[in-house]
Amino acid sequence: MTRTAIRTCPLCEATCGLELELDGDRVVAVRGDRDDVFSRGYLCPKGALFGELEADPDRLTAPRIRREGALVTASWEAAFEEIATRLHRLHATHGREAVAIYLGNPNVHSLDGQLGARPLIKALGTRNVFTASSVDQLPKHVSCGVLFGDPLAIPVPDVDRTDLLVILGANPRVSNGSLWTAPDLPRRLTELQRRGGRLVVIDPCRTRTADRADQHVAIRPGTDALLLAAVVTTLAEEDLVRLPDHLAGHVSGIDEVVAALADFTPQAVAPVCDVAAGTIRDLARELARTERACVYGRLGTTTTRFGTTTSWLVDVVNVLTGNLDVPGGAMFPTPAHHRPVRRPFRTGRWTSRVAGLPEAIGELPVATLVAEIVTPGDGQVRGLITVAGNPAISTPDSDRLDAALRDLELMVSVDPYVTATSRHADVILPPPSALHRPHLDLVFAGLAVRNVVNLSPAVLPLPDDRPHEWEILLTLSAIALGAAPPVDVDGADTFVATQLAEQLVADPTARTGGLDATSILAATGTRRGPERLAELLIRAGPYGDGFGQDLDGLTFERLEAAPHGIDLGPLTPRIPEVLRTATGRVELAPPEVLADLPRLRGELTAAPPEGLVLIGRRHLRTNNSWSHNLAALRRGRELCTLQLHPDDAAVRGVADGDLARVRSAAGEVTVTVEVTDAVRPGVASLPHGFGHDLDGVELSVAREGGGVNSNRLTPHGEVDPVSGTAVLNGIHIEVAPVSEIAQMR
Ligand code: SF4
Repeated sequence: MTRTAIRTCPLCEATCGLELELDGDRVVAVRGDRDDVFSRGYLCPKGALFGELEADPDRLTAPRIRREGALVTASWEAAFEEIATRLHRLHATHGREAVAIYLGNPNVHSLDGQLGARPLIKALGTRNVFTASSVDQLPKHVSCGVLFGDPLAIPVPDVDRTDLLVILGANPRVSNGSLWTAPDLPRRLTELQRRGGRLVVIDPCRTRTADRADQHVAIRPGTDALLLAAVVTTLAEEDLVRLPDHLAGHVSGIDEVVAALADFTPQAVAPVCDVAAGTIRDLARELARTERACVYGRLGTTTTRFGTTTSWLVDVVNVLTGNLDVPGGAMFPTPAHHRPVRRPFRTGRWTSRVAGLPEAIGELPVATLVAEIVTPGDGQVRGLITVAGNPAISTPDSDRLDAALRDLELMVSVDPYVTATSRHADVILPPPSALHRPHLDLVFAGLAVRNVVNLSPAVLPLPDDRPHEWEILLTLSAIALGAAPPVDVDGADTFVATQLAEQLVADPTARTGGLDATSILAATGTRRGPERLAELLIRAGPYGDGFGQDLDGLTFERLEAAPHGIDLGPLTPRIPEVLRTATGRVELAPPEVLADLPRLRGELTAAPPEGLVLIGRRHLRTNNSWSHNLAALRRGRELCTLQLHPDDAAVRGVADGDLARVRSAAGEVTVTVEVTDAVRPGVASLPHGFGHDLDGVELSVAREGGGVNSNRLTPHGEVDPVSGTAVLNGIHIEVAPVSEIAQMR
């Protein structure tokens, strides 16, 4: 007999509702949940294979410990004892900075990861904190931090109400949105066009999104900042700057921005961007004159040499065209959980030891992780804990990082698989699968195009011999603080919950402000772990009941009674309340970004790039380096190809289906060529997240699935200096037929 369970899909930012059919503990069918208040039944190919992912035989169910070079199965007790002995020794010998932590992107798709990793970072007491954010999104956090005072206040396109959406460097028909949560974005974009709106895509490739746009501008990679700067000068020159009434008095620096960008005219940037000056002027006029319009930029803009400046300019244009914080423009969501009032954002509170790259949002750019490991000296990283991360594939200069990981004195991976990264670990701790844990989204609710909240209870009980992921992380936290296993996890959990309760009653902006911490903690009853923390945050949040103060407010019981989620309404204007700058205003001319403009100005006179530059691409059937181990997703297709324009392929003597050797300053790969006019001349495109066929990797499907790791080509030293984020787009490469390898050397 089968049963049905409802759960939020954890596989990408769209947070679709899934309807799972289970036979015992096996998922036998997956459908989109038609009653989900946000996704309304949408399901993509990845979500449809949620059951296969859960049943993947390569998933680890017990820890592994390295013994005589091999990773052998071990008990949880032995695994934690091994970690404690070696971590304590490392801390005692080399200090706290000697142990780094890397958090992968799946952490933000799990309640355990969202709330469990923070205590571990604090317990480690290291500044060597790295996450997947600095692979591709840190520039947006930094630009929003300096503009709005809060790096998490990221405005998102109000796609369901806009009349003009300009997308730069993003392919939401494939990615389903990034830093922009809107399930079934393909339908939402189609509806935008059906109601008479326009979609403009600025991208070096004719992506699936560009192909269906009303206008596609095939810009030269890495030049979006110049184009947006020229949009600003056009707005100023033609007296098109306008602010909505409620923003007047809340924006500083308009004149400074206009003055700082004055020489970035459409004529000046046109030859560099390879976009006609008239096209740029028309775009500025259309943005200014359309009642409800919005500009959105993503990976193709953030992973460039000017990632932060481009991210800043996206919002500068939204402000100057009157489209920030208005329906149909770029809006700030109001998530259901409480978010503490932050101090005004600052970057560079500390810098990385070797490259001197700035800290932002409490982390260092992962582009410098290799250097921190291989460069001797005080503070050298000699140990690494990875949590749900695969930096050996997803971060720059991966050949060097791969070699560096091998030489660490201690490496611990909290990971369900033996991956390209965890194969180097001394201990692997596998967390249980998504079916065994409750879920409440805390990250993507802050990026969603509608205010929604959705609690998914655990679908299956956890086997007695398995710890929850949060229990693994709390045990590691206690060990990092010096405890010897076995650890009192319940005691540690209560300590963390008490700390949060005390913060919430001391915070006047929380609905719990002024209450008693012991009482609100007691009101959560028998809940433990992240579920208890989430209840505290929801009831203290803007829609919460404040622990009985508002009888109509949200409680966990109300969430449990609403398996398809609760719709909290459309996005509403939030300025000035959302602003956290020291002045309480939008700081449109932040000195950190203006200081980078001379470097951008240098691009106006730089010689045009010669040869080919490499850019990345996203595939509907994969999400970064995850989901490559599902045979049904691959279905024998070759997903990882080097796309080349026919003219470029002809010059290099390669044809569709040929194997070609691709070489950059960092490394070399051999990959199948796909000749297509979807990429503009001078540009080659290679997807990321592939290349699992390495010795020791235990991903049987991904290993055989082919594909190469694009990060073998990305140099580690090349970064956007404002955020320290690696340059992954616009890498200079050479391409030659495999038969000509000898001549390339
Ligand atoms: S779009 Fe994302 S959230 Fe929705 S079903 Fe697909 S993978 Fe899951």
